[in-house]
Amino acid sequence: VGTTVWREFDRSRLYTADLESTLHYLLRVELASHRSLEGEELRTLKDFVTLVAKLFPGRPTVTRLLELLQEWLASLPLDRIPYDAVLDLVNNRMRISGVFLTNQVQWVGCQGSRPELRGYPCGLWKLFHTLTVQARAYPEALSGTGFEGAPQAVLQTLRRYIRTFFGCRECGEHFEEMAKDSLEAVKTPEQAVLWLWKKHNIVNSRLAGQLSEDPRFPKAPWPTPDLCPACHEEVKGLDSWDEGQVLLFLQQYYSRANLLDTYSA
Ligand code: FAD
Repeated sequence: VGTTVWREFDRSRLYTADLESTLHYLLRVELASHRSLEGEELRTLKDFVTLVAKLFPGRPTVTRLLELLQEWLASLPLDRIPYDAVLDLVNNRMRISGVFLTNQVQWVGCQGSRPELRGYPCGLWKLFHTLTVQARAYPEALSGTGFEGAPQAVLQTLRRYIRTFFGCRECGEHFEEMAKDSLEAVKTPEQAVLWLWKKHNIVNSRLAGQLSEDPRFPKAPWPTPDLCPACHEEVKGLDSWDEGQVLLFLQQYYSRANLLDTYSA
């Protein structure tokens, strides 16, 4: 008890345990600091839950829970709900068989070499990339939600989530700056996938060498050449990206087929 055992993992794969730990933390820890939800907060939560309910590529037990949460939020006649009602719903619905979300974090691809490093922010990035990739791959999943045919809608919802709920305020402000400048230019689901990739690399380079960096996971432009050699090309002697290849790589990396259930509860 209390000792951290390193979990061997493959950097070319995505882990169910990371995505599910992220959802658990988001629903049971991050939201819990808001004792009641109303107005823009409630609208943001509803939209965010709709997105994950429709697009989360994980196990059916989790997807069913997300769908039940989404249906419940959509059916509420209230403008304001206590956070405890959300928590009760999540915990009560889990008594139904075939509905389950882990109630602890278990980081794999997001584990840090010290407990305060990586974890949730890493998982949130992975969840966000996964959602943009799934929205491109399965646009029909969003039909009837109001998000269909709106290539910016997924990113705008993630942006609102960060602004409203993400515990790191400073991160939210930086992200808002980036979104304000360039999100409007996104016109297709492919551009949405690449927009998030580019902005994440900007964050990576800003944070390189800072105290929050895990020495075992140095910040670098991603995907590194070992993960995707074809993504890198040389133009006039300088390393640059082949964005067509990057898009293909992201579509594969953040796909359902690349998810591994190893280490999942
Ligand atoms: P992360 O940057 O968390 O990346 C997680 C994983 O995503 C990587 O391991 C890799 O597999 C993959 N990945 C990496 N780059 C890309 C990419 N370009 N495209 C697709 N996948 C990629 N921290 C701060 O100190 N200041 C901030 O302003 C700040 N802003 C943030 C904004 C957001 C929206 C989020 C979610 C987090 C922010 N953070 C910020 C936290 C920070 O970005 C990292 O999440 C944290 O430092 C942990 O880093 P990490 O090494 O686990 O890799």
